[in-house]
Amino acid sequence: MQTYTFPSYDFIPPPELNGGQSPRYRVAIVGAGPIGLAAAIDLAGRGIECVVLDDDNTVSHGSRAICWAKRALEVLDRLGVAERMVEKGVTWQSGKVHFGDRALYRFDLADDGRQRFPAFINLQQYYTEEYLVDRALAMAEIELRWSSKVVDIEATDDGATLRVETPDGSYDLAADWVIAADGARSQVRRMMGLDFVGRVFEDRFLIADVVMRADFPKERWFWFDPPFNPDQSALLHMQADNVWRIDLQLGWDADPEEERKPEKVVPRIERMLGPDAAFDLEWTSVYTFQCRRLEKFRHGRVLFAGDAAHQVSPFGARGANGGLQDVDNLAWKLALVVKQQAPEALLDSYDSERVQAADENILNSTRATDFISPKSAASRAFRDGTLDLAIDWPFARELVNSGRLSRPATHTDSPLNGPAIDAAVRPGAPCPDAPIRSAVPGGDMADGWLLDHLGGGFAVLCFGAEVAVSSGLDTLADDAIPIALLSVGAAPGGPGTSVVDIDGQLARQFAGGAPGSTFLFRPDQHLCASWDSGDVAAVRAARDHACGGRMDR
Ligand SMILES: Cc1cc2nc3c(=O)[nH]c(=O)nc-3n(C[C@H](O)[C@H](O)[C@H](O)COP(=O)(O)OP(=O)(O)OC[C@H]3O[C@@H](n4cnc5c(N)ncnc54)[C@H](O)[C@@H]3O)c2cc1C
Repeated sequence: MQTYTFPSYDFIPPPELNGGQSPRYRVAIVGAGPIGLAAAIDLAGRGIECVVLDDDNTVSHGSRAICWAKRALEVLDRLGVAERMVEKGVTWQSGKVHFGDRALYRFDLADDGRQRFPAFINLQQYYTEEYLVDRALAMAEIELRWSSKVVDIEATDDGATLRVETPDGSYDLAADWVIAADGARSQVRRMMGLDFVGRVFEDRFLIADVVMRADFPKERWFWFDPPFNPDQSALLHMQADNVWRIDLQLGWDADPEEERKPEKVVPRIERMLGPDAAFDLEWTSVYTFQCRRLEKFRHGRVLFAGDAAHQVSPFGARGANGGLQDVDNLAWKLALVVKQQAPEALLDSYDSERVQAADENILNSTRATDFISPKSAASRAFRDGTLDLAIDWPFARELVNSGRLSRPATHTDSPLNGPAIDAAVRPGAPCPDAPIRSAVPGGDMADGWLLDHLGGGFAVLCFGAEVAVSSGLDTLADDAIPIALLSVGAAPGGPGTSVVDIDGQLARQFAGGAPGSTFLFRPDQHLCASWDSGDVAAVRAARDHACGGRMDR
């Protein structure tokens, strides 16, 4: 690759190989891909030590995820890497859909109201992983072990023992909890005799990352049946370093080895970009894909996350984005269980919530795949008819599916949800961000974002600073599992006010912000309960319920 130099991380012989006593680890994470690394950072931020084992000594080879969605960026911001990603990546929120040689319509993914992060940025997965590794290396709670392949696992009721193979020999490592984040070909999954349920799609796609200076806008351009790739589809997207991602559907009969040869790839790209386009090939591969998942993500003390737990087609960018939401969901629960502040049964809600989210992702990505590559004459006729209509009729555009792009799951039926008032944000939904103003040390006021203030613990948002204080919500910050108070006041610096709703967006998002209305958020910033008026006992009970019934009363 000409635009990226792969880092090489050293293998450091662990004490177990030097005759040292192997400690029993609280949490072992198999896989230092984006999901394993994010899990380690999230747990470390909650004071949980963990060891991460990866069979490689660098970041993801070649071109994989490029689109990082707003919710994933919000999670990655909490983990300390989003700023670097946004700075390096390409921000976009609109796109264009083509059919044959016609441009059908443009779409815009802009959210209602002002948001800190854009709908998407495009950044090569290796950069994201590199930034996560840098962050992990700076955290004392994380031990990263490269060139360390997990070759066996013995799971018991109180943990698991992993057999680890390294350049200097093998050793056993025991842990109370294991997060299997070892990717789509998960060996932990195979070693535990588990399998996926779902569909394998019979289609092949060529990915070509090319380096070029081009006038295309920073948008997602999708083609159905374009003249340069008849009867198939194509996608064009800009990434960092003037690298452009081109996806060309090849069909099932294509020979993957033949199709990735430069002498086959270059003419295909010239047909797409025109004979005068000057480009260099950065990376090519041919892929096929699956939409499937494990039946359960929790197997006793072994928890599956990311591609090890579920796989989707790349249409919709739901793979890594979904995996990061697994981490967001899992880390706070596992941290509470490890600290013995919540029962192990809390982790069953990781299973039920993220299985529901995976099903949503699989459904969306399966539908997109069926629309993009129809497998019967009837589906093809429906698709082409829909596309013909879409040029003039907005209703038909709703039916065009070139990949419904990643959205965070709302855990409407979560067992952790509590009571709810009639508000746009329902229990189980992630908190929408909003611009706020708050006091900073020294007494000045600064503009910021709601999600920064929610942070990574329980937090209660109460409209009306005086009512928040008079009902005693400020005392919840002293609990063993603290609940931070965000009281929304009218005037900067008013008594008890912690945030000011700068332009009314916060009130619009939360039922008009009626005085006294109170919203309790979980540590993953999903709403767990809401009330017309704040009541300390009710808020505590909802927090305890969301912790699976607390153990440290
Ligand atoms: C063409 C393509 C485009 C994509 N585009 C997007 C996109 O735009 N947006 C998006 O969100 N997702 C996208 N994805 C999906 C995304 O790449 C994956 O979802 C993501 O990499 C999953 O991360 P992970 O950490 O779960 O697994 P991986 O990234 O596969 O990481 C697994 C890690 O485990 C290690 N490992 C494996 N076995 C062992 C073992 N036995 N012992 C120790 N370590 C082991 C591996 O070396 C690796 O480092 C795309 C995927 C493809 C193929």
